[in-house]
Amino acid sequence: MARVLKTYHPNFIKYQKFIIGHQNYKDFPEAVDATGSIKWVTAGKSELGKKRERWWLEKGAELKSKGIKVADHARLSPIALANHPTKIKACQTCGRELSLEYVYLVKNSIKSINKASALIDKLDENGIVNVFELANELFEKIGIKTFAILDLAFPGCRNMSTLPELNAYIQTNFVDAFSKRLGPGAMSNCPDRLDGFHSYNRCCRGEEDTGRHTSNLARYGEDRRAYENWADGDWKAASWLMKVYSQHDVSADHIGPISLGFCHRPYFQPMTKQENSSKGNRLTYADCLKLKQHEDEGEQVVSWHSAPLWNRLKVAIKNDADALEASKYMRRNMHYILTIMANLKEIGLNQFLESFLNPDYAYYSIEFIGFDPITGSYQEMKKIRGDITQYSRNAERYKKIAFLQLDEYLIKDNRKVAELKPEILNNILEKISNAYHQAGNDIAKKVLLDELDSLALTSYKEFIAGITLQEPD
Ligand SMILES: [Zn+2]
Repeated sequence: MARVLKTYHPNFIKYQKFIIGHQNYKDFPEAVDATGSIKWVTAGKSELGKKRERWWLEKGAELKSKGIKVADHARLSPIALANHPTKIKACQTCGRELSLEYVYLVKNSIKSINKASALIDKLDENGIVNVFELANELFEKIGIKTFAILDLAFPGCRNMSTLPELNAYIQTNFVDAFSKRLGPGAMSNCPDRLDGFHSYNRCCRGEEDTGRHTSNLARYGEDRRAYENWADGDWKAASWLMKVYSQHDVSADHIGPISLGFCHRPYFQPMTKQENSSKGNRLTYADCLKLKQHEDEGEQVVSWHSAPLWNRLKVAIKNDADALEASKYMRRNMHYILTIMANLKEIGLNQFLESFLNPDYAYYSIEFIGFDPITGSYQEMKKIRGDITQYSRNAERYKKIAFLQLDEYLIKDNRKVAELKPEILNNILEKISNAYHQAGNDIAKKVLLDELDSLALTSYKEFIAGITLQEPD
């Protein structure tokens, strides 16, 4: 599965243009070649490399003379950091923007934090965890207990008493001190790279040719998966209920998997971790019956985008083999949906897409009263609306991840799922784009749903005809 062509992510290309046009890189030696293309990479030992190195050393002196602080733990990399206009860099491989400062927990720090698992969800050891975001999220959930938990990786935090005080303490003693407990979003690579940093970020480090991204496996994996699949449902309540499950050491099974187009809603069936991971992203016949039962009770179990296919399949599923086959069709359908949405973003229909998100769920705190870990049921879900900064950050993060996933979706090329035919895709995009520009959001939504409906109908006919799909992923 070798990649023949190495393509840069559009965000990275945008980033390169921004850098070479920025005054901080004025008079940079041979930033573009005779044909006008950017000369991003050079060997440090080459003549140009040496020229660039001299440029960096002069830049360092200039910055210092202006009173800008340049660290001295290395010769060139602190200059590249001090000179960087935004301290944010896009990843060449996946386009994800990460900070160049030392704000991401290294594996050992994550392991230390995970020792406090009774209070919080386990973080993914290979995830991208920004220390300030972690502090904010923990503080929202568990308040001042955050300080003692962060102290496990960042000694001294337990002596703090407010969140701003904690943030300032971490900034001074760990981030600005280039602590080994933290790492930057991209390693320095000066003078080889024009901006002084490796082109792939922390997200794709070491795996830059495989198209696999640790960002897919990031912490709070489940709610992230819900954002990434543009799932309906009260995602915040669902994620908080998952936490209740994990505090009782039971695994929460979605019944209808998010990756097949079902909702992220506060209803799960308890399982052991082994049972849940061996079940994977498949439906059983029992799952289908339970989902139908919930629908009869007035619950929404499937997201708007996958409803046209589910509504057809559910009446045709008669046993486990059918349910398994239906799972594959639902998975392929989800692939079509994300492909269409990612392309809609590419052509600039961000506002249209945003109308499918539900950030409002972020503005509640939720409590589950009378949780029973054996049945997974609870007596009452108490929701209280609030307006604190953490909630709006939560809403922003939800939107950001949903859109970021669309960017990443287009560049993954090692899926084992059949693609939409280009002519079908282009036709759909054109119809939606025209409807949006000529008739507005609501009509464009109708057009999109009609298109998804006709894709669903085709899939349903294949399913009924007994066409077997290969198992994806
Ligand atoms: Zn990346």
